[in-house]
Amino acid sequence: MAEALTDYRRLCVHTMTTKPLTLEEAITEYTRAGIPGITVWRHHFEAMGAEEAGKRLQESGLRVVSLCRGGFFPASSAREREEARDQNRRIIDEAAAIGAPLVVLVCGAVPGMPLAEARRQIVDGIAAILPHAAAAEVKLSIEPLHPMYADDRCAVNTLEQANNMVSTLQSPWLGVTVDVYHCWWDPMLKSEIARAGNRIFSFHVCDWRTPTRDLLNDRGMMGAGCIDIRGIRGWVEEAGFKGPVEVEIFSDEYWQWDQRALIEQIKRSWLVYV
Ligand code: ZN
Repeated sequence: MAEALTDYRRLCVHTMTTKPLTLEEAITEYTRAGIPGITVWRHHFEAMGAEEAGKRLQESGLRVVSLCRGGFFPASSAREREEARDQNRRIIDEAAAIGAPLVVLVCGAVPGMPLAEARRQIVDGIAAILPHAAAAEVKLSIEPLHPMYADDRCAVNTLEQANNMVSTLQSPWLGVTVDVYHCWWDPMLKSEIARAGNRIFSFHVCDWRTPTRDLLNDRGMMGAGCIDIRGIRGWVEEAGFKGPVEVEIFSDEYWQWDQRALIEQIKRSWLVYV
């Protein structure tokens, strides 16, 4: 078990967690709250563009931890797969523009496509964009998603599968993201975290609500569910990861809250449950 965190130095918040805030507002509120890290979702800078977003982020002094998200490689035609790769190359360029050292990949899936085929297409897609990532000096990480998303979001559902892809592709620019929401149930989690070692590029936290009322937008505040977040943080740290801990909560409920109150709740829960 890891020691409790006693300050906010490793705290990073995803702009999706405070989805109602514009990027500008998120920068203001995070700074005001003493949150040092930000992970930026693409739609938060769609209107102003990556260059302008990069300028404002740099001026803010916030640490840009990653860009969410690239991926969605599988498709039923070669033309669509090529389009997806081009799109990912643009996303890598955006990451460079906003000062993000990492693009998190939600790898994709196509309803009806056999999962083994989707996984093959994911490996091929990542292989195709890795040279672009290396040239831009932007890392990529495969984020396994909970199997409930295996139909249309991500055919990579365990850390073992993600680690296997990293082993196959052998690039210093490719690693994994461990998100407790997606992986907490996995009996192989501890050993696969150890296996991932220094290829753990990022670590996401929230909690699993019982009951979960919506498959996508009902994630819980840390401590509001059944995940042993601190236990998993301990494994990730034993594996060598000492980076930011990213609070990523999609929640129709919290998005109704006053977002400043939500940020204060995140800070309280951080000290007790992360
Ligand atoms: Zn995540």
